[in-house]
Amino acid sequence: MSIAFIGLGIMGSPMAANLVRAGYDVTGYDVTQDRVDQLVDRGGHAARSVAEAVKGADTVITMLPDSPQVEQVAPTIVDHGGPDLLYIDMSTIRPDTSRWIAGQGIRSLDAPVSGGEKGAIDATLSIMVGGDPQDFERALPLLKAVGKTIVHVGPSGAGQTVKAANQLVVGGIYGLVAEAIVLLEASGVDPGKGLDVLAGGLAGSRILELKRRSMVAREFAPGFRIDLHHKDMGIALAAAREAGLALPLTGQVAQLVAAARAQGHGALDHSALLKVIERLNS
Ligand code: NAD
Repeated sequence: MSIAFIGLGIMGSPMAANLVRAGYDVTGYDVTQDRVDQLVDRGGHAARSVAEAVKGADTVITMLPDSPQVEQVAPTIVDHGGPDLLYIDMSTIRPDTSRWIAGQGIRSLDAPVSGGEKGAIDATLSIMVGGDPQDFERALPLLKAVGKTIVHVGPSGAGQTVKAANQLVVGGIYGLVAEAIVLLEASGVDPGKGLDVLAGGLAGSRILELKRRSMVAREFAPGFRIDLHHKDMGIALAAAREAGLALPLTGQVAQLVAAARAQGHGALDHSALLKVIERLNS
């Protein structure tokens, strides 16, 4: 089966490599040529445009930064794809963009992911899928090559709504872990030991498990950039507004992420929310 993979960044590059490893014929395209070359080194093929990548493909996957990039490439996918093409967008974008794609007359799924760069490399991503159940069944073997927890959560756009919920929870946990570190340090308690105990109790989470040491050491290389989390908090707040909901903690987390960006930390990992909490208290 041939797959066109558009967007070979931090996430897309290892995901495409895992599809090659699983035996798929993968043709990649990215606006940055180095990333395409890297896929070729790993056994994939190069395309010089979205149209070239899509031609003859059974399935197209996009892993792009945000809704505008997906809106830019989607018409080319619709125009150049064959009649049986399945388009799986795995980027984190607005749910209404996913619904717009579904209205373009091609088979499509929204399938955003959680698990970060490590999950992409290890093929252990959590994947939340919106769209037609038949299309989900068709995509499942391919999704299993990049992910571990794969759930069909509802119609088009539902995957993105679940991802928005994921991002507000992740942002909230990072913010609270940052506050715990600042409290422990200011009180003369070793934050490493303190967080080790938290990680083993009810407060334990994947974030504490994977990131507590790097946070205490102030290592903020991405990972997942503050800029992307800022985009995701905007998606979460827009989804809340559309549903007529007040989500006060989500609003605070969004402000915290916005402050990190305003302080020049947009290119750092989202665990750098710690820098904002520290600055509030210095
Ligand atoms: P990234 O910026 O590293 O990768 C995006 C890639 O898309 C880049 O290589 C860029 O050159 C390419 N690109 C941009 N516009 C393009 C276009 N018009 N045509 C072709 N290529 C284009 O971002 P990432 O971290 O890989 O994230 C991708 C998506 O996955 C985002 O929506 C993000 O929110 C989501 N996500 C990221 C993580 C993470 O930990 N990094 C985790 C879960 C979800």
